Amino acid sequence: MRLGFLWDMTLCVSCGACVAACSAANYPDERWMENRSWDWLTSNILLTYYDEPPTGRAYSLITSCQQCENPPCVSVCPTGASYIDKDTGLVLIDYDKCIGCRYCMAACPYGMRWLDQVHGWPNKCPGPDSQERISNGQNPACVEVCPTGARLFGDLDDPNSEISIRLNESTAVRLLEDKGTEPKYFVVVGRSQVAATQTSQATAAQVAQGGGE
Ligand code: SF4
Ligand code: SF4
Ligand code: SF4
Repeated sequence: MRLGFLWDMTLCVSCGACVAACSAANYPDERWMENRSWDWLTSNILLTYYDEPPTGRAYSLITSCQQCENPPCVSVCPTGASYIDKDTGLVLIDYDKCIGCRYCMAACPYGMRWLDQVHGWPNKCPGPDSQERISNGQNPACVEVCPTGARLFGDLDDPNSEISIRLNESTAVRLLEDKGTEPKYFVVVGRSQVAATQTSQATAAQVAQGGGE
């Protein structure tokens, strides 16, 4: 099993519900505090607005831990506190082993770990509630609350999982691929040529049959 995330930027309406849901589910006692590492909420999801991009079209980018298969945060950790869970492929933190050195925060090329002001250790996705939900076979809260279906989570090794099917139908990119981290966080930027062709063929067939709605 290789669990990963998908964020479809063509469906996202930047409502922030995933950010709020992550905060409420994973950090209910710290929600009033600031995530100073990101100048943000106590959430594992960062929503960045780009108002004046070179393209002239405003857009937003949603990021969280990329669940790298070759994670620098794990290789630099001196105690083994940061590790890849062999059953799920998720990158996790064993807080019993963490000494708060923050090497992992410095090593993450995505800046996706943030410092917990209460405990003095790094946090990242998936948070404690999300891990429990995942172990119970449920989606993390961020996926559950998304009103547009822009977020998916699941097994990339299962060709019939919802995330695998969506990826097959989509054109997706991974962030900072040149870093060699092999992220399992996919950003959908459009529909795949195959899917678009299939749709146009189906539409043409409907029109030929007089059912072109
Ligand atoms: S995104 Fe950062 S924190 Fe997450 S697995 Fe990759 S290197 Fe580690
Ligand atoms: S802060 Fe904790 S998890 Fe991060 S590198 Fe140090 S010991 Fe490992
Ligand atoms: S909940 Fe869904 S639509 Fe709203 S910001 Fe998050 S990914 Fe985008």
